[in-house]
Amino acid sequence: MTSRPGRTTWGVNTIEAHCRDATLATMTALPRGAWQGVARATGLLSPDGEVASTIFAEMSALAARTGAINLGQGFPDADGPESIKAAAIRAIEDGHNQYPPGPGVPELRHAVADHQRRRYGLAVDPDTEVLITTGATEALAAAVLALAGPGDEVITLEPFYDSHAAVIALAGATHVPVALTPSATGFRLDVDALRAAASERTRILLINTPHNPTGAVLTRDELEAVAAVARERDAIVVTDEVYEHLTFDGAAHVPLATLPDMAERTLTISSSGKTFSLTGWKIGWVHGPSALVTAVRTVKQFLTYVSGAPFQPAIADALYDDDAPRELPESLAERRDLLCDGLRAAGFDVVVPQGTYFVVADATRIVERLGLADGAELCRRLPELAGVVAIPMTAFCREGSPAHARLRSSLRFTFVKQEQTLRDAVTRLAALAG
Ligand code: PMP
Ligand code: GLN
Repeated sequence: MTSRPGRTTWGVNTIEAHCRDATLATMTALPRGAWQGVARATGLLSPDGEVASTIFAEMSALAARTGAINLGQGFPDADGPESIKAAAIRAIEDGHNQYPPGPGVPELRHAVADHQRRRYGLAVDPDTEVLITTGATEALAAAVLALAGPGDEVITLEPFYDSHAAVIALAGATHVPVALTPSATGFRLDVDALRAAASERTRILLINTPHNPTGAVLTRDELEAVAAVARERDAIVVTDEVYEHLTFDGAAHVPLATLPDMAERTLTISSSGKTFSLTGWKIGWVHGPSALVTAVRTVKQFLTYVSGAPFQPAIADALYDDDAPRELPESLAERRDLLCDGLRAAGFDVVVPQGTYFVVADATRIVERLGLADGAELCRRLPELAGVVAIPMTAFCREGSPAHARLRSSLRFTFVKQEQTLRDAVTRLAALAG
């Protein structure tokens, strides 16, 4: 019999996976290929050609190695509702175990369309305008690969979620980031910079609201500015709305497709991972005009073809329950406050987020007092200094950009952890207070 790792908890499996990832960094003589552009675009390629795994994997591995509390990678440390898990188990027992239809199972496509109608008043045809994907990640990749190529420019916000930069590089398009800048009302879009960044080569505006990593929820005015640029440049908007239900303090999530004349040029992407605390299930979707969705499906079917047969009907049921996503934001807002208070007490300056799983904390005073180079060094030292892991904000910026310079001493912390975990983290972080 071959030996195999025992059946263990998720935590241990995760550690093993991350350790395997980490070995990538020690491989030599890697072949040439598109991976290099991806690694460069996401800041993972060192000048001597070595490649690292994603910052999320790296920091989770650091937490696992050191026993530090992992406030880096954004995943809940408690699973989503039992009823949704039970529905997936039932679906397996009922035989939903072979390839589902290419566009996704009809009940989930209908559930997505119905959700968009009930929540936002959007009219979406479940048969021609919805495509189920392997998480939002695949929807993003398929959309950008389908619609942009060499010579095209894709505008994103900066800081940006890493996969946005990666798929633009894979498509061979040019990434044009536009800054979100910290202010008294959170990170705000520099609308003038957005207009200045647009050109006749702008093909896609790739927007993300609520925004990872800043926690900003774009206002209607900011979204109007995006829409105006898209109309003027005849560009497509791809909008990543995976945190659509995770907003706080009455901040309203405005789907870009609800703005006048925008549904016809917008691909809206979301996923069940964040809404239902099931990030490992990877059930996502994209909807928009049928011609755009057909283009995305054409690429998507050669990325994974299909996935998640038993999870799709379970998520379909969940999407009809308008109460399920409402409980999470309330408890998340309390956990956000707990972490923000603790970070302030530890000497960070915090930009209070209006949504998502994340808070950006400026550690300039701590970095200076400890004589460190920047936030990245603080992140590497944080397990030993305070028994906590966070992500350096520069991982979400392009080397040399104004946003990179502005955020060089800032860290992203996640608060999607149980209250006791956050209390322990806050107690540990107090060790940083000068
Ligand atoms: N977009 C953003 C902004 C995210 O933060 C994430 C991951 N959490 C994703 C997309 C990927 O979503 P999924 O896990 O559904 O692929
Ligand atoms: N979206 C998660 C985050 O921002 C990470 C997902 C991943 O590791 N790719 O932390």
